[in-house]
Amino acid sequence: MDNMKINTKCVQAGYRPGNGEPRQIPIIQSTTFKYDTSEDMGKLFDLEESGYFYSRLQNPTCDLVAAKLAALEGGSAAMLTSSGQAANFFALFNICEAGSHIVSSSSIYGGTFNLISVTMAKMGIDVTFVSPDCTEEELNAAFKDNTRAVFGETIANPALTVLDIEKFARAAHAHGIPLIVDNTFPTPVNCRPIEWGADIVTHSTTKYMDGHGAAVGGAIIDSGKFDWMAHKDKFPGLTTPDESYHGIVYAEKFGIEGAFITKATSQLMRDLGCVQSPQSAYILNLGLESLHVRMPRHVENGQAVAEFLSSHEKIEKVNYPGLASDPYHELSMKYMPNGGCGVVSFEIKGGRDQAQRFMKELKLAAIETHVADARTCCLNPATSTHRQMNDEQLKAAGIPAGLVRMSCGLEDKEDLIADLKQALSKV
Ligand SMILES: *Cc1c(COP(=O)(O)O)cnc(C)c1O
Repeated sequence: MDNMKINTKCVQAGYRPGNGEPRQIPIIQSTTFKYDTSEDMGKLFDLEESGYFYSRLQNPTCDLVAAKLAALEGGSAAMLTSSGQAANFFALFNICEAGSHIVSSSSIYGGTFNLISVTMAKMGIDVTFVSPDCTEEELNAAFKDNTRAVFGETIANPALTVLDIEKFARAAHAHGIPLIVDNTFPTPVNCRPIEWGADIVTHSTTKYMDGHGAAVGGAIIDSGKFDWMAHKDKFPGLTTPDESYHGIVYAEKFGIEGAFITKATSQLMRDLGCVQSPQSAYILNLGLESLHVRMPRHVENGQAVAEFLSSHEKIEKVNYPGLASDPYHELSMKYMPNGGCGVVSFEIKGGRDQAQRFMKELKLAAIETHVADARTCCLNPATSTHRQMNDEQLKAAGIPAGLVRMSCGLEDKEDLIADLKQALSKV
């Protein structure tokens, strides 16, 4: 499977049933697993043998789907989490603790921005936000002695900026620090950050991977390439004995390829318990089986909608990295030659009133706080997610009052454009 194309991996990686076994991934809906002797179970608790004993730690259905995600991203190991938020928190908290510092792109999902700048700050973890467009000099200047992680999003939600993964990886590695990339929007079908130097990849599988708005979930994939032992003093959680696991040193016992995910599972999942249910993992896998067929259609529709809007007289501005005029077009072509995703944002002339009027008139696109599923949906941040801000604050945040974020689904692009056309004719 390793040397097969991504399309084949979407369908068949992770689960290879034996003779007479179920063709589809079985849903192991069991909290616990039985053993004949306490000695057998003791070996699992000591991490001497791998196996299942309680579904908060590991479940066979979730592990099969995680193995597919590792194959898709080109990683050595992966784990599922209850949501994208949990994935990003676990990825960061697995290597950061009170007194640590994070360097993060400022252009990231609002939920992740809050996680890092408010909730993790309360845990004594500090952050420096840098523009994704910063120079290498500015980026290097953001590092401190206690920096333990660098974070960014391949295509940021909702700003649609594109991360220069190689630039961020170079700076991270020059300081002996891993780069964590949230690859939710392009998915591994359109970009595989590990191939460009990222060390850890995270996902909100709630979005395109599920793809049908059916199950909230997240995932972490380790490249298995970051040498924790070479930076022993920085990552004591991985390189010194874990007293809560009989003095195991993760980086020694599980090696460069297994240490990160084993620690995140046996410490963070054990103590925080943000597990994905086997039912959700099964639904996620159904989505993954067609991910490679769906992503090109999302991109085709996003591109068509962006091109239509960019020549429309009632539209002030369109953000879509697939447009030649977009400031991120060049980076997008480098990292995502087949396109990025189906999310487009655009500013309607006349501000929030006209944006609201326009959205009310749309027949296909529903108004939702969601992106990246089969049905086209849209949102006006000024009257929903950011409604506490006035026009000036919105402008300062780079979110004009008339901005609409539209997630293009899998419908026919001609119908989507006809819908936009009739709605725009009424504003
Ligand atoms: C939605 C999203 C998240 C959060 O994921 P949930 O599954 O909603 O917890 C994180 N990162 C990005 C880029 C997202 O779009």
